[in-house]
Amino acid sequence: MKLRTRCLGLAEAVVDLSAVEANVRQIRQRLRPGTEVLAVVKADAFGHGAVQVARAAIGAGATWLGVARADEALQLRAAGLTAPILVWLYDASELMLLADVDVSVSTVAELQQVIDTPSVHNIHLKLDTGLHRGGSNPEQWIELTRTAAYYEALGAIKIRGIWSHLSHGDEPNAPQNQKQLELFRTGLTLARRAGLNPSVIHLANSAGALTLDAPDCNLVRIGAALYGIDELGIELTPPMRLVSKVAQVRRIRAGEGISYSHDYVAPHDTTVALIPLGYADGIPRNTTGQASVLIRGVRMPIRGRIAMDQFVVDAGDIPLEPGEPVTIFGDGSQGEPTAADWAEWAGTIPHEIYCGLGPRIPRRYEETTR
Ligand SMILES: *Cc1c(COP(=O)(O)O)cnc(C)c1O
Repeated sequence: MKLRTRCLGLAEAVVDLSAVEANVRQIRQRLRPGTEVLAVVKADAFGHGAVQVARAAIGAGATWLGVARADEALQLRAAGLTAPILVWLYDASELMLLADVDVSVSTVAELQQVIDTPSVHNIHLKLDTGLHRGGSNPEQWIELTRTAAYYEALGAIKIRGIWSHLSHGDEPNAPQNQKQLELFRTGLTLARRAGLNPSVIHLANSAGALTLDAPDCNLVRIGAALYGIDELGIELTPPMRLVSKVAQVRRIRAGEGISYSHDYVAPHDTTVALIPLGYADGIPRNTTGQASVLIRGVRMPIRGRIAMDQFVVDAGDIPLEPGEPVTIFGDGSQGEPTAADWAEWAGTIPHEIYCGLGPRIPRRYEETTR
């Protein structure tokens, strides 16, 4: 078996790009034929590395890329990615940088800003169908679509997409999904009546892509599933594992405390090991007492306060040596915790664990064949 614990330096996040590819394939297999995949690589691909993940996703058949911010789109273009990119949050001052990127528009005022920026051409109009987090108010939709159609007829812009976002995508049986779908279809009819003929129509995120029957849509925006965050019990693989090394080992006596304020006091003599990662690296501070890591195939609990740069685990009577590999999280196949376990310990979602990994952790890429 391949040694999956190897770590260069103090710590690194190793991203298996073939797992990203496999996850894209898992999703694509389940989509209605003709539905394309937009790979959501915002926030540095949930901490995995936007350029590398984007390339892998495109290689596995995704045809669009999506990001939240202008600089994220520019990073992808600078790296040579040529697929269409949709960006959904930007400042008016950034628009002139976004030639060759599709931008989301929710209001007539935003539409005007784009029209005032001749280099930006392709627009996706966003309708708020119930998330109430952005998008056009349904009451203003007719005005927005008519104004857009007017400027499109003049050749100033192209309305390439119509879109919306689900509030309950990960709850397939929630009645909100059908309600949003109905509002979306109405919005689509009104847009066509205004004279628009968008080529991409998209509503669903990862979970919604697999559960919402939306024949009007021909594109799904896939984020979480790329990263193996499984909200629906399909077979996905988390591509990232976070590995480190034992930095120091010492023996302490019963009654001695560990880390700041001695929140933890050892009930018996034991061996403790120092791991050189802390909350500045994204190890959630509130997980001590619940969290454990894998060393020598054994789960060892974190004891005492997690500091900014380091934490301590209890090795019991196992005679660890400095330099031994430590797995903080991975896909779980070797007994290590997963990011989902860390999320549970921290009272959050795996997305936040991945996005929280700090800038001191280098990302390393590999391609295993799956
Ligand atoms: C983050 C995001 C997505 C991806 O959602 P997942 O649930 O991670 O698949 C899709 N669309 C928009 C607008 C987003 O902000």
